[in-house]
This record gives sequence, structure tokens and C-alpha cells, in this order.
Amino acid sequence: MNFRVITIDGPAGAGKTTVSKRLAAALGCVYVDTGALYRGVAYEVDRRKIDWKDETAMAAFLSDLDLSFIMEGEDLVLTSSGKDITPFIRTPEITMLASATSALPAVRQALLGIQKNIAATRDAVFEGRDMGTAVFPDARFKFFLFADLSVRAQRRYDEMDASRKELKNVQAEMEKRDENDSSRKTNPLKPAPDAISIDSTYLTIDQVVAKILSEIKAS
Ligand code: C5P
Repeated sequence: MNFRVITIDGPAGAGKTTVSKRLAAALGCVYVDTGALYRGVAYEVDRRKIDWKDETAMAAFLSDLDLSFIMEGEDLVLTSSGKDITPFIRTPEITMLASATSALPAVRQALLGIQKNIAATRDAVFEGRDMGTAVFPDARFKFFLFADLSVRAQRRYDEMDASRKELKNVQAEMEKRDENDSSRKTNPLKPAPDAISIDSTYLTIDQVVAKILSEIKAS
């Protein structure tokens, strides 16, 4: 791999997105939100009313699916058949459907090429669940970010708008998603053996970014 790949894995609410964006800006490379791809699959499954438990229906759906990331200024925007679907992929329903459908090996396989193609053409910070373990096992810089569940749920709750749910529901959904993501057979959420793990429970975003940058600079 000629281009520099930095992987940031970890559970929801550990601070991956903010940290990854800040790192990409500091290092002058692109930020890739691989969760958006899984959300894109879920969005299209939902929109086209596909029975995701039906293997044949999913195979046909995936062969027809046209997800890609396009550059918009400095950012990558997720499109489906050329249309920006970013505004539709963050609802609670799509979040839980993404977690369910991401356990399917055919879905993971279908999204592999998109991720690898980006790394083949540019330096990038990849955020996800299996970046360091499965998609980029040879990446030179791998980090695994985690934090206590209650702290992660509180962070997510604080980001929500006036239609907020109750904190306990946010925490319950997060716990369910952690459980799905960590227990699936294909590429479960876990640190790569050579990843540097960072507990962000008591750290600010600035502290996490500084820690990662110092690890990168030191090597
Ligand atoms: O990162 P985000 O919360 O947007 O990811 C949504 C879901 O997509 C996760 O809960 C997980 O099930 C799935 N995902 C995955 N592998 C990745 C990124 C996300 O399975 N690399």
C-alpha cells in the first residue's frame, strides 16, 4: 500500500467521527465514514422494500446497488445512483437496520471494493468497525477508540435535537447495536491485535487527537 491509511475503529459514541475528521484535517488527507456505506445499504433496503433475510433477493439487490463516495470540496459525500443520500441515513430506524444488515457477509463483501479503491488513490483516515482487522489489516496506523457505555450514550443524547428521546432509550439502542456489531460472525467489532486502544471515557476530543497524532509522529 503506497498511500497512508489510518484506521479508527470502535463502538458507537466513542468519539470516532469527530476525532477522525480532526485527524484528517491535521494530516491533510480525506476522512472516510464507512458506517455511511452500511447506512446506505440499509436506506436502499428500506426504500426498495427488500426482504433482507432473503438471500436471493439480497444478492439481486446488491448487484444492482450503486453506492459511491464523491468528492465535494474537501469532503466525501455518499451517493446512491448519483443521488446524495446523506440526509436520509441517520434516522434511528436506518441505524438499527444498518446494524442488522451489516452482519450479512454478502453486504460486507459488496462494500469492500469501494473502501479499497479510496485507499488505492489517496491518503485517508478510515472510520468503522473492521478497518484495522479486515479491510486494511496492513495499515501502518491503527487505533481502537472506546468509552464506558453510559458516557457514550450521554454524548449521543447531547448531540440530539428537540425531538430527543429518553437517555435510557438511547443507551439501550446503543447497547443493542454494540451487541450486534461485536457478536456477528463476519468481521465483528474488535480491536486489531496491533491497534493502539484508547479509552476516551475521561478524555476530551483534543486529548484523543493529540494522543493519536503523537503516536503517528513518533513512529
Ligand atoms: O459508524 P456508524 O454508527 O454510522 O455505523 C452504522 C452501522 O454500520 C454500525 O452499527 C455497524 O453495524 C455498521 N458498520 C460496520 N462496519 C463498518 C462501519 C459500520 O459493520 N466498518
